[in-house]
Amino acid sequence: MAEHEHEREHEHVRVAVVGSGFGGLGAAVRLRREGITDFVVLERAGSVGGTWRDNSYPGCACDVPSHLYSFSFAPNPDWPRSFSGQEHIRAYLEHVTDVFGLRPHIRFDSEVKRMVWDAERLRWDIETSSGNLSADVVVSATGPLSEPKTPDIPGLDTFPGKVFHSARWDHDYDLRGKRVAVVGTGASAIQIVPSIQPLVSRLTLLQRTPAWVLPRADRAISAAERAVHRALPLTTKLRRGLLWGVRELQVQAFTKHPGELGFVEQLAKRNMARVVKDPALRAKLTPDYRIGCKRILLSSTYYPALVQPNVDVVASGLSEVRGSTVVAADGTEAEVDAIVFGTGFHVTDMPIAERVVGAEGRTLAETWTGGMQALRGAAAAGFPNFMTVIGPNTGLGNSSMILMIESQLNYLADYLRQLDVLGGRVALDARPSAVRAWNHRVQQRMKRTVWNTGGCTSWYLDASGRNTTVWPGTTTEFRRATRHVDLSEYAVLRAPAKRAAVTRDGAEVTA
Ligand SMILES: Cc1cc2nc3c(=O)[nH]c(=O)nc-3n(C[C@H](O)[C@H](O)[C@H](O)COP(=O)(O)OP(=O)(O)OC[C@H]3O[C@@H](n4cnc5c(N)ncnc54)[C@H](O)[C@@H]3O)c2cc1C
Repeated sequence: MAEHEHEREHEHVRVAVVGSGFGGLGAAVRLRREGITDFVVLERAGSVGGTWRDNSYPGCACDVPSHLYSFSFAPNPDWPRSFSGQEHIRAYLEHVTDVFGLRPHIRFDSEVKRMVWDAERLRWDIETSSGNLSADVVVSATGPLSEPKTPDIPGLDTFPGKVFHSARWDHDYDLRGKRVAVVGTGASAIQIVPSIQPLVSRLTLLQRTPAWVLPRADRAISAAERAVHRALPLTTKLRRGLLWGVRELQVQAFTKHPGELGFVEQLAKRNMARVVKDPALRAKLTPDYRIGCKRILLSSTYYPALVQPNVDVVASGLSEVRGSTVVAADGTEAEVDAIVFGTGFHVTDMPIAERVVGAEGRTLAETWTGGMQALRGAAAAGFPNFMTVIGPNTGLGNSSMILMIESQLNYLADYLRQLDVLGGRVALDARPSAVRAWNHRVQQRMKRTVWNTGGCTSWYLDASGRNTTVWPGTTTEFRRATRHVDLSEYAVLRAPAKRAAVTRDGAEVTA
C-alpha cells in the first residue's frame, strides 16, 4: 500500500507515552521542555495520578518524605505533613498536570492493548481501547506497582462476603462493626490495619512473613515552616537535599555491608518491645531474616493497633476459604464478613510486556522469560525506540523513586536528541551484547546485597529467585549511568530507501 495512504489511516505522533503516574507525567514535562509537542499520553483510567489515584485505602501515604518524594522541577512548599497522604500526592500530580500544560496531550480511557514494531516504517503501531495510532518512540510508564495481585485461594470465589484488594478499595462498603480479615503484612497492609482497627468489630491479620518495622517520624509541617518555604524556595531545596543525602549514605549498608544493618535490627526490636508486651505475640512478629531484605516498613501505629483486644495476629498465610471462614495454612480459622488483600502487585511479570511485540515478532514477556533485563533500566534488545520508565533493576529499597524516574528522563531526552542528530527515519535498538553486559554488572553487584543475602523471599525476586527489581547502587551512580546515551550500545536502524513511482493519475507513491 502506498505509504501516504497508509499514514492517513490513523494518527502518527513522534512520542507516545503510556501511563500518567509520576513516570508518564514526568516524561510529558520533559518532552515539552525539550521543545517536543508532538506527543500523546495514553492513560487507561479517567484521571492522572497512577499509584496515587488507584490506592485510596484508609491510611494511604508515602513512606519517603514528601519533600523528596516529589519532582525536583516542581517543588511543593505546601506539603502538609512530612509523609503526606494519598489525597495530597494525588492533588500534587493534578497540579503538575495543569501547571505544565499537559492536559491537551493526555488521552484518558485509552488502554494500550497492543504495540507492534513495524520494522519497515520504523515505528510502533499502537492499538488502544479508544482507537489506533502510531509513534516513532514509545515511553512505557505503566508502573511497577500498578496491577494488583490477588493470590489464587481455593474457595475464595464462593465467599459470601466482601472481597477487595488494597489498590481497589471499595469506599461504598462500610467496615464499621464488621469482622475483617486482612491478608498480607506489606507496606499497604501496615497502613490499613491501624486505620481500620478502631472501626471493625474483629480484625484477623493473616501474616505469612512478619515485616521489620521502624517508627515513622511523621508530623504536620507547620504553617510557619510552609511560609518560609514559600518565601525562600531555596529552603525547600535544602530540605530535599538533606533528605536525599541521608538516604544516599545508607545505601552502602544495603548493597555492600548488610552486616552493618544489625544495629538497625536492634532498634526495630526495641521499637516492637516498647509496645508489644506479650512475648508470644512478639515472637510471631519478629522476622527471621536480616532487616532490609524486604522493604523496611515505617509505622508508629501498626504495633499499637496489633495489641488491641479486637485484633488477632495469625502467623500463617491464608490457604483456603470455606464459606465465610478463612483458613490459614496452620489450620487457624476465623469467620469474617470481609477479606482485604494487601498482597501487592505484578512486579517481576510486568503486565505491559505481554502486549509489546518487538522486531522479531516476539513479545517483551517472551523475551523476558528468563527474567527482565534492559540496558540502563530502559531499553530491551529487539525493541527499538521503546523505553521503559522504572524498568528492570531501577527500584529502590530506601529512597524516592522520583530520583530514578528523573534519571531515566535525562536518558530519554538524550535518546531523542541522538535520534535528531542522526536524522531521517531512524531508530536505536539496544545491542544484545550491551544489554547482557549491563545486566551482568547489575547481577554481579546484586550478589552482595541484603536483598539477595538477607535470607528472605520478597517481591524484588522473580520466579527463578533473581533480583530484577532493585538498583544495587546509589541514586548518584544511576544518575551518572543515565546522563547520556552511548551510541556504541545501540544498533542504528534506518528505513529502507523509498522507491518513488508515479501512478497513472499522477500521484507519487512509494513502494
Ligand atoms: C501504596 C503505595 C505507596 C508507595 N509509596 C512510595 C513511596 O513512599 N516512595 C516511593 O519512592 N515509591 C512509592 N511507591 C512506588 C510508586 O509506585 C512509585 O513511586 C511511582 O508512583 C510509580 O509511578 P509510575 O508512573 O511509574 O507508575 P504508576 O503510578 O503506577 O502509573 C502507571 C500508570 O499507567 C497506567 N497504565 C498501566 N497500564 C496501562 C495500559 N496498558 N494502557 C494505558 N495506561 C496504562 C495506569 O493506569 C497508571 O495510571 C508506592 C507505591 C504504592 C502502591
